[in-house]
Amino acid sequence: MTSSELRAVSVRALLARRRRLAAGLSEPERTLRGVLLWERRRCSSEGCRCRRGELHGPYSYLAVYADRRSRTIYVPQTVQAACGAHVEVTQRNEALLLEISQINLELLRRRALE
Ligand SMILES: [Zn+2]
Repeated sequence: MTSSELRAVSVRALLARRRRLAAGLSEPERTLRGVLLWERRRCSSEGCRCRRGELHGPYSYLAVYADRRSRTIYVPQTVQAACGAHVEVTQRNEALLLEISQINLELLRRRALE
C-alpha cells in the first residue's frame, strides 16, 4: 500500500494489517542480505582459452553491501541452494518489514503509535 492509501485506512485496520504482515515473517535466523549472481571469469593463466574470450563459469557469487562498500563472495555449488533460500527468505521478510514500518509511520502521524 502506498502512504496515501494508508492514510485512508482506519487505525483498527492498520493494526490488523500490521499483525498479518508480522505473522508472515519467517525464519529470521536465515537472514542473509545480498544478491545472488552468476558471472563468467577470466583466470590468471596466460595461455588459457579464457584469454581468447572463452570465459570460465558461470560461477555463483553473493553480492553483499556492508561497511559502506559492496563486495562479492564466491558461493560454492554445494551451498548454492541454501544460499538462494536464505536470500529469498530475507527479501520476503524485508519487504514485510518495510510495509510494517510504513504502517508504524502512519500510526505515528496519527499519534496512535503504542
Ligand atoms: Zn582461464
